[in-house]
Amino acid sequence: MKNAIEGSNSGTPAMEYQEGTIVPMVDLEISGECNLHCPTCWGTPPDMRQEHEFSDWLAMLGKLKASYGLESIALTGGEPLMIPGIDGFIEEAHEEVGLNINLLTNAVFLGEHFSTVKPHLSSLSIPLDGSTEEINRKSRGRDHYQVAVDWIARLSREHPELPLKVGTVVSAANFSDIRDIGEVLLAQGFGDRVSNPGTWKLYQATAFGAQQESPIWRARGVTGQDFDQLVQQAVDRFQGRINVTGLSTSEVGGYCIIVRPNGNVVTNSLQDGREHLLATNIFEDTEGAMESIAAYHVKTRGVQRMATSYLSQGLH
Ligand code: SF4
Repeated sequence: MKNAIEGSNSGTPAMEYQEGTIVPMVDLEISGECNLHCPTCWGTPPDMRQEHEFSDWLAMLGKLKASYGLESIALTGGEPLMIPGIDGFIEEAHEEVGLNINLLTNAVFLGEHFSTVKPHLSSLSIPLDGSTEEINRKSRGRDHYQVAVDWIARLSREHPELPLKVGTVVSAANFSDIRDIGEVLLAQGFGDRVSNPGTWKLYQATAFGAQQESPIWRARGVTGQDFDQLVQQAVDRFQGRINVTGLSTSEVGGYCIIVRPNGNVVTNSLQDGREHLLATNIFEDTEGAMESIAAYHVKTRGVQRMATSYLSQGLH
């Protein structure tokens, strides 16, 4: 099947996409439930819980793979490891549907799942927002710092074959702490993953929608210029030891394809800081949903191979 996508509103020439080439990755938010309450959360609202059976999710993913070239999913939320039965879903999505699974988790429940899910994972992403319990707590709450640091150490030393990303949301709460967070990572062996280096990604704290009106967000904001300078300092300082990358607010948005727990497909566009519903519901009309996604992306970005994910765009 061949589909023509018109970019008429933006002056983009009509583009064509071949079936099987356009959606290599989507972010799945099966449930918004989370044990943490990070004020900078970009995830699905916590009151949005799982609405569809795993069998429905797997069938939908199978359709996306067969017809739209889906290769990978980023499993996010919410905290995915809080969803009952998630281990079986990960195994089936990998073994039966044939997808690469990238798990974004705050790591608090990782110990209960790791040995089961590890054989099915292509990568793991863990947040760390401070070099100490006190600083990390400002962004992640209690009971997160030590578990995150312990997992970074364990994954670096015992499982260097599993790609690992550490994400840090840079805000006024930890702006002066970034260098020390890097030192903590080095102390855990993150810099010793020579054959499979870990990535440390810095994100400029970015408010979506109503967050833009929040006093908490106003107090936490950092300018794009300050953020860019900070990233460059981190890149220079840790060169050859940690692969540091940065993502500023101006670069975020417009590429993620996020499937919410109810099946609605959205993207976060920071041009106006709001979520855009791209299609009514991917379970009700998979083909219609995918075609409106393609039309949206061609119109706004002029790209054919369009999906990246939270792995590169946003943060758990
Ligand atoms: S950022 Fe992640 S860990 Fe924090 S509340 Fe949101 S989903 Fe939970």
